[in-house]
Amino acid sequence: MGIKVYIDGKYYSKVESKISVFDHGFLYGDGVFEGIRSYDKLIFRLDKHLDRLYESAHTIMLEIPMTKKELTAAIIQTLKLNKLSNAYIRLIISRGIGDLGLDPRKCPKPSIIIIADKILLYPNKFYQEGLAIITVPTFRNLPNSLDPGIKSLNYLNNIMAKIEANNCGYNEAIMLSSDGMVAECSGDNIFIIKNNILYTPPSYIGALKGITRDTLLEIGEKNKMRCEEKMLTRHELYNADEVFLTGTAAEIVPVVKIDERKIGTGRPGKITLKLMRLFKQMTKKEGTRYTF
Ligand code: PMP
Repeated sequence: MGIKVYIDGKYYSKVESKISVFDHGFLYGDGVFEGIRSYDKLIFRLDKHLDRLYESAHTIMLEIPMTKKELTAAIIQTLKLNKLSNAYIRLIISRGIGDLGLDPRKCPKPSIIIIADKILLYPNKFYQEGLAIITVPTFRNLPNSLDPGIKSLNYLNNIMAKIEANNCGYNEAIMLSSDGMVAECSGDNIFIIKNNILYTPPSYIGALKGITRDTLLEIGEKNKMRCEEKMLTRHELYNADEVFLTGTAAEIVPVVKIDERKIGTGRPGKITLKLMRLFKQMTKKEGTRYTF
């Protein structure tokens, strides 16, 4: 039996779950989304994801036709129906059906889509041996054109970076701001550790304010580590003791090589491994509980 997808209050099988070609989410990438995870029937930081979703929607003047409480109920219903204890949840709000012009005023009804499926885990090798990544020519979007803080359906900026990394034989790309400072990766935030201090670029440089990123800053502080949001150069990345990436799907991935420079010992660092353990423990303890 396949998964059931929620579209505007109804459930459809995978093959039947379709939206109109006139939906501006499809025509223009006009909409917002979230990627959320559940661990053993606990949805991790659902409130933070919903806050970010409503903030993204507010900025693009998209009124979500449901309250956070109603959306929470719909997400839980979808998880129950699909009998998923450990899930990846994709929540999408598209502008809805309009005409072929850009004008969002011609789209009277936004669409709400919830896809919950088994989480596809990255190969274990990434976590045990660490990733090699590169910086790419495509800059992260300028905050004064399309703010990377908005988790919009328009991901071509990130996809360009991903293509550039793939073309060189790498799985992930470091994206810089237009003045050459480290922003984030194509689908993850980036951290470095230098002399036991945890650093990550401030989100205003042009990075998504990741839920996993904020969790890591919290875990660091709870464990008496100094944590700082600081502008970082590539030179600082190359000479860090440890580097890792964070994201809902990837969780925490150690990075051992950047632009062919070895990071630290060239193996996942001790502090990174400790943070990975602490993060895992946290996902097992806190979250929005559901049952089936
Ligand atoms: N940056 C980008 C560009 C992303 O798309 C994501 C989410 N995949 C992240 C960072 C990580 O954010 P979060 O921890 O909230 O998943």
